[in-house]
Amino acid sequence: MLNPRFYEALGIDDIREKVQASERLTIEDGRRLFECPDLSSVAALAHYVRMQRHGMRVTWVRNRHVNYTNVCANDCRFCAFHRRVGEEGGFTLNLDEIVDKATSAGDITELHIVGGCHPELGLDFFETALRTLHKKLPNTSIKAFTPVEIEHFAKLESISTREVLERLSAAGQEMMPGGGAEIFDPDVRARICPEKVSGDEWLRISKEAHSMGIRTNCTMLFGHVESVEHRLDHLDKLRRLQDETNGFICFILLPFLIKNSALELPEGFAGVSAPDILRTLAISRLMLDNIPHIKSYWVMLGVKLALTALHYGADDFDGTVVEEKIGHMAGASSEQALTPEGIVAMACDCGFTPVERDALFRPKNTEPQGESPC
Ligand code: SF4
Repeated sequence: MLNPRFYEALGIDDIREKVQASERLTIEDGRRLFECPDLSSVAALAHYVRMQRHGMRVTWVRNRHVNYTNVCANDCRFCAFHRRVGEEGGFTLNLDEIVDKATSAGDITELHIVGGCHPELGLDFFETALRTLHKKLPNTSIKAFTPVEIEHFAKLESISTREVLERLSAAGQEMMPGGGAEIFDPDVRARICPEKVSGDEWLRISKEAHSMGIRTNCTMLFGHVESVEHRLDHLDKLRRLQDETNGFICFILLPFLIKNSALELPEGFAGVSAPDILRTLAISRLMLDNIPHIKSYWVMLGVKLALTALHYGADDFDGTVVEEKIGHMAGASSEQALTPEGIVAMACDCGFTPVERDALFRPKNTEPQGESPC
């Protein structure tokens, strides 16, 4: 599959050799992969790694997203989701509404809870919410609050982030999503999210969570003002933290969606292209040699591109989701929900073996799902 002569002609046979020998790629290797004129050869390397790790398995989860508020003290320029206090279009769910949404989704394995940094919702509100949800859905893992929200709660309550994590864990938070990482470079952050927690602080809070036994995900929001060097630096920082903690379960690549964004962009900027998304995803798989899973997040990629991305190094398809506001307010044209049957059928149609998982990526059962043509 990985013909040395072909890679020699492209000038990247040394990278092919490293990949096949399971050696770590350097940032310079990553840069050369971004410059390689043949996308399919980069994809083949990422697919090789995915096959070594996961074979043709595609994991998915019965999950439900709950976005509890879009009112936010920050003003990230790229974010189409947030509103100021009192601004038209703002919403904040009360406890009953959060519980209604979470429990109306039927038999779910994972509850994904994230929202804006509301300046008036104290930590006790979220502790009560988590306790209530945990009681009503004892078999559902609660994946809640990014490092950005954790830092916001700490500031609001004048307590440490460790104390926030301790209290939320005690109330039922089982793991954390990976949003808010954006691009770690300070100059990029100054342009796209100047009020938000710094990249170093995002990494510190993730490290703190890992040290407490809380597994987390990680993300990269790309395709705005950053360069290829910024992307590679971001991936390298995630990889280095993972070397220390082994606490990240999954990496999620988030393409910046331009609709409704206040970010100042060059005239005619149309957003990141599908080939760039697929190349960046493949390079992420290759660079992040110590993070087990790479998600193809259909909400942000769209279902068709997300299925294609399974051939570019991704091994997880997220899940049923049910209702999502963050990506859709930024112009995501994907569905709001997928059915378990639909996910299984699509994965099989693409030649993969769907495997239902829990929030921590453990298989739910060992029975084959659907019929794959392969
Ligand atoms: S990205 Fe998050 S922190 Fe930034 S404005 Fe939007 S909701 Fe607030």
